[in-house]
Formats: sequence, structure tokens, C-alpha cells
Amino acid sequence: MDTFEMTVKKMKEMKPQEMTEQMEKLKSMCLCPGCPTYTNCARNAGELVFCANGKSFMCIPNEVQCICPNCPVTKQLGYKYKQFCTRGAEKAQRYEHALWGTKMV
Ligand code: SF4
Ligand code: SF4
Repeated sequence: MDTFEMTVKKMKEMKPQEMTEQMEKLKSMCLCPGCPTYTNCARNAGELVFCANGKSFMCIPNEVQCICPNCPVTKQLGYKYKQFCTRGAEKAQRYEHALWGTKMV
């Protein structure tokens, strides 16, 4: 089990209050607002932490650059993927790659 899988397991055991606190912590660490791909629409909608929450809800149409690899959350949670706002959460991308192979972009 890698770091990400262990974190998911731990989060499943969290109480709702602990989960809320954890999400607030991730929000405060999220670098997305400083990313060239991030849009005003996403900002106005308060969209953050796409790595856990999944794709943007119709606010981010184009991939310009992704600074997720520089984010402390990537290191802390052991992410393998990036571009979460357009391609889906780490969990979803892992699932897709497991099904279709790593060549699918
Ligand atoms: S890894 Fe990316 S989406 Fe996740 S908190 Fe960091 S900057 Fe935001
Ligand atoms: S998920 Fe990556 S590409 Fe999308 S806004 Fe955040 S840092 Fe930028």
C-alpha cells in the first residue's frame, strides 16, 4: 500500500468533523489559485483541491500548465498524477489508468 492508499484508508475512518478539518487544511495548502490554468470562474465559485474533489464544474475549459507537482499536498499524499481540475481526482485517475493503461492521457 502506498502513501495515497494509506491516506484514503485513514480518511475513510475519520469522523465527519475530522474530515471537514482535513479538507480545510488541504484548502489552505492548495496552490491552484496561482496556477495559469485556474480561472476567475473557478475563483468565484470557490473551487479548490481538485485532487480530492474532482474536476472543475464547468469553470476550467483549457489546460495551460499545472503546478500541482509543486504543491505540498502532492508530496504529503503521494500523488502520481496532476491536472486534477480537468482530468479528475487522484483516485479517479488511478482508476482510469488501472483500467486503460498509462498511455491514455
Ligand atoms: S495538488 Fe493541486 S489540486 Fe491538490 S491541493 Fe495542491 S494545487 Fe490544489
Ligand atoms: S489542478 Fe493543476 S492545472 Fe488545475 S488549477 Fe490546480 S494546479 Fe492548475
